[in-house]
Amino acid sequence: MREQELPVAMENFRNKCREFGLKITPQRAAIYKELLQASDHPTIDSILKKVRVVLPSISFDTVYRTVISFSEAGIIHMVGGFGGSRRFDADTSRHHHFKCIKCGKIFDFLSDYYDNVKIPEEFSRNFKVLSKRVLLEGICRECCKK
Ligand SMILES: [Zn+2]
Ligand SMILES: [Zn+2]
Repeated sequence: MREQELPVAMENFRNKCREFGLKITPQRAAIYKELLQASDHPTIDSILKKVRVVLPSISFDTVYRTVISFSEAGIIHMVGGFGGSRRFDADTSRHHHFKCIKCGKIFDFLSDYYDNVKIPEEFSRNFKVLSKRVLLEGICRECCKK
């Protein structure tokens, strides 16, 4: 996220909060700002560490509850995975993820093919599918070199 895009993104955030009836507190705004500026799909712990620079008394619990309510409102996305801590993504545009099981880095990628992949019929008949995001897991280029 470039510096000049931040005010626009924060304005969108305030609008979304209003839409979902989430009160905009200084804590929530600071947490969202950190999420926006992080490009590494941070964990709650790493968000906490960064937000504490601005709001030293903020608790893990506040960050946790805030991040969960943001993801329930669709303001951010939770990145799934097997094991490890939950990771969060303020970039809600259509994209997919590759997670390295060695270093834990999460890489974004675009794929028209995955965007258009068909939902198996037994699911589309009985379930309401709200989003389609593919998570690939493996070993990243850097870790392959080691
Ligand atoms: Zn790696
Ligand atoms: Zn992402």
